[in-house]
Amino acid sequence: MLTPFKNEPFTDFTKEENRRRMQEALARVESQLGREYALVINGERVKTRETFVSINPSEKDQVVGVLAKATTEEAERAIQVATERFEYWKRVPPEERAMVLLRAATLLKRRKLEFAAWQVFEVGKNWAEADADVAEAIDYLEFYAREMIRYAQPQELTPIETERNEYFYIPLGPVVVIPPWNFPLAIMLGMTTAALVTGNTVVLKPASDSAVIAYHFVELMEEAGLPAGVLNLITGPGSTVGDYLVAHPKTRMIAFTGSMEVGKHIYELAAKVQPGQIWLKRVIAEMGGKDAIIVDEDALNLEEAADAVVASAYGFQGQKCSAASRLIVTEPIYEKFVEMVKERTEKIEIGPAKDNYFMGPVINASAEAKILAYIEIGKEEGKLVTGGEKAPGNGFYIKPTIFKDVPEDARIAQEEIFGPVLAVIKARDFDDAIRIANNTIYGLTGSVFTGDPLKIKKAKEEFHVGNLYINRKCTGALVDVHPFGGFNMSGTDSKAGGRDYLLLFLQGKSVSEKYR
Ligand code: NAP
Ligand code: MG
Repeated sequence: MLTPFKNEPFTDFTKEENRRRMQEALARVESQLGREYALVINGERVKTRETFVSINPSEKDQVVGVLAKATTEEAERAIQVATERFEYWKRVPPEERAMVLLRAATLLKRRKLEFAAWQVFEVGKNWAEADADVAEAIDYLEFYAREMIRYAQPQELTPIETERNEYFYIPLGPVVVIPPWNFPLAIMLGMTTAALVTGNTVVLKPASDSAVIAYHFVELMEEAGLPAGVLNLITGPGSTVGDYLVAHPKTRMIAFTGSMEVGKHIYELAAKVQPGQIWLKRVIAEMGGKDAIIVDEDALNLEEAADAVVASAYGFQGQKCSAASRLIVTEPIYEKFVEMVKERTEKIEIGPAKDNYFMGPVINASAEAKILAYIEIGKEEGKLVTGGEKAPGNGFYIKPTIFKDVPEDARIAQEEIFGPVLAVIKARDFDDAIRIANNTIYGLTGSVFTGDPLKIKKAKEEFHVGNLYINRKCTGALVDVHPFGGFNMSGTDSKAGGRDYLLLFLQGKSVSEKYR
């Protein structure tokens, strides 16, 4: 009998003891940087002729790991193995599959700070962000294990006198998992273990910028007792091996989280039925956001609202799908509130993630170039309030940037920048603010700060986002507390960490036996 699900607590880094343990974990991980990592196909370590490096964005000359660069040949083998091993894994009882996740959770709890430290080096998360990512990963393991046991229970049907009827859920087949780098453990692990616990086999094609973390996760699952070939790791470029896996006729489902551009491409590619393919592929595609925080003149506490804006806009350098990239303020408090956000933003310190600055680097050189290009566009479209340039250091550092008086249709108010850039838009009143917030192709998260119950009611009904927050920041969703996923071009609204999620990896079988 399992205890009810509970969220994993965050590590309190104000405690000296925890800070010391984190320093130790960072030192241990740092001594392991630069190692070589192979592919994992059927449990075997497969080396490739070509390799690629994952670097530390805080210190760009530091190599975090050297990874095998798979070609379509290895991708083909991985899909074949996943297809063969599905025949075995689908027959393993759901409770046993759930046990693998629970053992992985136990192992991960013991190695929490080590997995956090890998994120500090590989993607530039500060300690608290990295620790929260690991906590979320533990939550997925604990929650999806319990969810599988729930879905494995007999399902209720309306009885009829002449037949014995049953309804149960079976897995789909080989699932290709393609995660982003920004929640390098949590999202990658969440999609993968949801597929595994439901009885599917997986070919995991991690994001190239966080492939070392994916390798450590695969090892963790092996340690937890996952049999060989049930989870296969193919590292390499999304544009070649990713596409090959998506298009493959034996691929039954694709679980993707990443940008809208790649999501649309995968959706289209997966829709085409290939020679020899005997199903329509199922696709989960969770994509980008242009998330807005509305601050109304009736807000109860503007100080708190300003803190929440800064946390939502600049936490992990604005590189969260849930990050606030639009701030919509009603006219009477507009100038005052922008000033409050500016003051806080200018206090933000930037530096290497290892030294636990509030803000670290953005992920890589092309992200840096893209963000700086948007900043130049912003200088034409709005008024620069603060930031607007690179910050010093041997990494991809960009100052937290605010533009005000941005027209709602400006590019910086419409396109996902995925960096520390906030566009402030003035609204006439609350109704106008909601209208502006909805003027986007996305619909992921949003926050509203107001003390007026009628305005809250209006936001609940009209603000079209998958995750709406009232009087709090728009980032930091917790597993089974805030099931997470967006509307419109933010994705297929597969609510990760929610009770509907595992169903997406299952199909229902109806069996009817006539009484004799
Ligand atoms: P991305 O560039 O779209 O990449 C995501 C994944 O797709 C990576 O593993 C990438 O591999 C792979 N890929 C790239 N091109 C491919 C292709 N042609 N075929 C198959 N796979 C391909 O996104 P990202 O930069 O990693 O992540 C940031 C984006 O994710 C943002 O837009 C953010 O909003 C979104 N996001 C959404 C959610 C959500 O829940 N809605 C959560 C987190 C992030 P390579 O790394 O090898 O290119
Ligand atoms: Mg890196």
